[in-house]
Amino acid sequence: MSRVIIIGCGGVAQVAIHKCCQLDDVFTDLCIASRTVSKCDKIKEELKDKTKTNITTKQIDANDFNALVKLFNEFKPEIVMNLGMPYQNLVIMDACLEYGCHYLDTAAYEPEDVNEPKWREKYEKRVKEKGFTAYFDYSYQWEYKEKFEKKGLIALLGCGFDPGVTQAYVAYAKKHEFDRIDTIDILDCNGGDHGYPFATNFNPEINLREVSSDGAYFEDGKWHKIPAMSIHGKYNFDGVGEKDIYLLHHEEIESIAKNYPEIKRIRFYMTFGENYIRHMNCLENVGLLSTKAINYEGKEIVPIQFLKALLPDPASLGPRTVGKTNIGCIFKGVKDGKEKTYYIYNVCDHQESYKEVGSQAISYTTGVPAMCGALMILKGIWKTPGANTVELYNPDPFIEALDKYGLPKRENHNPVMVD
Ligand code: NDP
Repeated sequence: MSRVIIIGCGGVAQVAIHKCCQLDDVFTDLCIASRTVSKCDKIKEELKDKTKTNITTKQIDANDFNALVKLFNEFKPEIVMNLGMPYQNLVIMDACLEYGCHYLDTAAYEPEDVNEPKWREKYEKRVKEKGFTAYFDYSYQWEYKEKFEKKGLIALLGCGFDPGVTQAYVAYAKKHEFDRIDTIDILDCNGGDHGYPFATNFNPEINLREVSSDGAYFEDGKWHKIPAMSIHGKYNFDGVGEKDIYLLHHEEIESIAKNYPEIKRIRFYMTFGENYIRHMNCLENVGLLSTKAINYEGKEIVPIQFLKALLPDPASLGPRTVGKTNIGCIFKGVKDGKEKTYYIYNVCDHQESYKEVGSQAISYTTGVPAMCGALMILKGIWKTPGANTVELYNPDPFIEALDKYGLPKRENHNPVMVD
């Protein structure tokens, strides 16, 4: 019997809601709280005859600490799953501490306004000291570690696929396959086609911020920054075929580098088609990816938010997206004195995801791990309190849950390496 609040009701949240409702013996009472309550009511109606989970809905502005604490006091959740925007991570963590419940999210904190002077000062310092320029980093949420520890609560950070499952794969590889890991390449391939000239598969603002930023990888104890999309190659993915891959900075590199100092190099690659890159460059060149508000005919407009309003809603891509995703990690290292390589990954089909929960595979591959992470906490399988990323917990029961609930692993002990 568990009481759970899900904040947000977009692409990822809708999958997590479906999956929680499939496990209605665990997720017995669910409150869906989001900015637009009609979306919450719609999914509640859809699930009415399909689950025993008792669903309630609530309008909430997740920026409002007092409203969050009031809601938590009324509903009395054991865990709050933050599946809205990363901008609200800190305020929701504060509210969880104030009320006294566990917390989970799928993306590292970044501020909505990256020109806010106090935040900017700290950011510029970090860029100088660490050498990567992404707006997100884990330092803000790691600062909560002791506060959660003291209350015996867990804040599970970044429990989607990447971040999330990719770190569980690292912990799994270290536990079962290697005495020492030397290199990791995380490969995120989306072989899906939605038929639009341009659309993003998850929140456009977060997606375009990530992709248009400088890339970075970690090697020999330090960050190496590269101009956006300047390192690329090709890789032939199981279930998908050959795709162009581009090196990006990604948040799990930061936590893996911290938690596994032995690893000499960690890189992250994502696939993009030519069409996507052409559109993105054009949007950037005309200023539509800017996060700085402009005044247009007396009204403040943030260009990237205006663009989001023009682009297809990622939650609407489900019925039209065909093809598969393939996300995983390739390792090089040593076992029993011998060098070896290993690849662990998942292949997920967009249409099968749509048939099961009404969403495309990008939302599916994020929403299922979020549900499985909550399951680990609610069942008391993951116990260590603190603000922790996924690799700090036992990967076996989590990967078993993923196998069972829709994202089975595949392994290859003789993979083709990236280079
Ligand atoms: P969407 O834009 O589809 O959904 C976001 C939801 O949050 C919407 O329902 C939105 O409300 C709601 N929301 C936004 N602001 C507020 C607020 N102030 N108060 C309450 N609710 C709010 O995003 P996605 O579902 O695609 O992505 C969700 C998260 O998952 C993002 O943080 C994204 O970065 C992360 N993600 C993680 C991945 C991983 O593998 N780890 C992969 C993909 C995504 P409204 O309906 O009114 O717009």
